[in-house]
Amino acid sequence: MNIHEYQAKALLHEFGVPISRGVPVLKASDSEAAAKQLPGPIWVVKSQIHAGGRGKGKFKEASAGEKGGVRIAKSVAEVSEFAKQMLGATLVTVQTGAQGKQVNRLYIEEGSDIDKEFYLSILVNRETSQVSFVVSTEGGVNIEEVAHNTPEKIVTFSVDPATGIMAHHGRTVAKALNLSGDLAKQAEKLVVQLYNAFTAKDMAMLEINPLVVTKQGQLRVLDAKVSFDDNALFRHPEVAALRDETEEDAKEIEASKYDLNYVALDGTIGCMVNGAGLAMATMDIIKLYGMEPANFLDVGGGASKEKVAAAFKIITADPNVKGILVNIFGGIMKCDIIADGVVAAVKEVGLKVPLVVRLEGTNVDAGKKIIRESGLNVVPADNLDDAAQKIVKAVKGG
Ligand code: GDP
Ligand code: MG
Repeated sequence: MNIHEYQAKALLHEFGVPISRGVPVLKASDSEAAAKQLPGPIWVVKSQIHAGGRGKGKFKEASAGEKGGVRIAKSVAEVSEFAKQMLGATLVTVQTGAQGKQVNRLYIEEGSDIDKEFYLSILVNRETSQVSFVVSTEGGVNIEEVAHNTPEKIVTFSVDPATGIMAHHGRTVAKALNLSGDLAKQAEKLVVQLYNAFTAKDMAMLEINPLVVTKQGQLRVLDAKVSFDDNALFRHPEVAALRDETEEDAKEIEASKYDLNYVALDGTIGCMVNGAGLAMATMDIIKLYGMEPANFLDVGGGASKEKVAAAFKIITADPNVKGILVNIFGGIMKCDIIADGVVAAVKEVGLKVPLVVRLEGTNVDAGKKIIRESGLNVVPADNLDDAAQKIVKAVKGG
């Protein structure tokens, strides 16, 4: 689960992390009062969307003006003007895709006088089972570019969670950022605070870009992107409460209600599969035959007819889906339950695209019989390869 920048900053602040003062705003009419709570003379008006690259982003609407999704305002009046322009408009950044994201929240912050911009992120390193830090003097820019062009400017190290964060980790960061004296002390303290926040809240990733040194000699977190480990959310109801469903894929939210492992993708072939491995293989073979999957979906082992029907409805509701491939290798999952679920869903919502069904394994004959007797326009397939070729051919109009 991801959260907004202002939520991440409020959370980090609980651990003592230095941030700028700011006020979140949902309505343009509240922006003046919000700006007046901050000292000025510079304010920053920041679009709150679950995507980075906002500063260099562009709004689709001409009425939102030429400036990007992060704007420096020099008066309260200018804050209000920007708020009116940005709220409700659609921001396109390198991370949103061409369709962009609607800006429904703003964060109005006291402006910082920036001397230097750094990069710092923390993530779970699954290879080493440790917590990795990535630090660079090259902040405020695309870190992937830094990694590509000047990899020597990136310092990484890992912290063993069994022994925890230690003073030398802080010194490593201070050194990597060429900080000395009081700023080095600030960095050492910050590293401990960030690590504590990261582990206490079960984060999967914490990215600060930029971490800045102000002209007043203060180290400050100017942008923060946090994602949490969904498997640990049950331990943090206060984090789960920060969820903003308008930022998430509606199909994925619906799927999560039925406990389905569903990920929306950009392609045109909807997939309903049991088992994550088979689902991956099904996506691969669709690509092999020249098309793209519209989703990853693992209905799981013990799915009921209702769950299967819900899954099928989520797939058919996606306007990008031009054909559906059901690929079931019945083990714990029984083919007749899949067939029942598919037939029930089609009876309810209809079927406007080609459907190829490949069933194998437990109760396969019963499953095939249900499909046959349903009168549905289903193309049966014998194996995975056959199924993939048939759905690609059907969608291409062959
Ligand atoms: P992002 O573009 O989505 O990563 O949004 P950021 O929060 O990182 O803001 C983009 C850029 O705006 C930063 O890299 C800074 O250069 C600039 N910026 C953000 N806040 C301030 C501020 O308080 N003062 C100044 N001068 N620039 C800021
Ligand atoms: Mg940033």
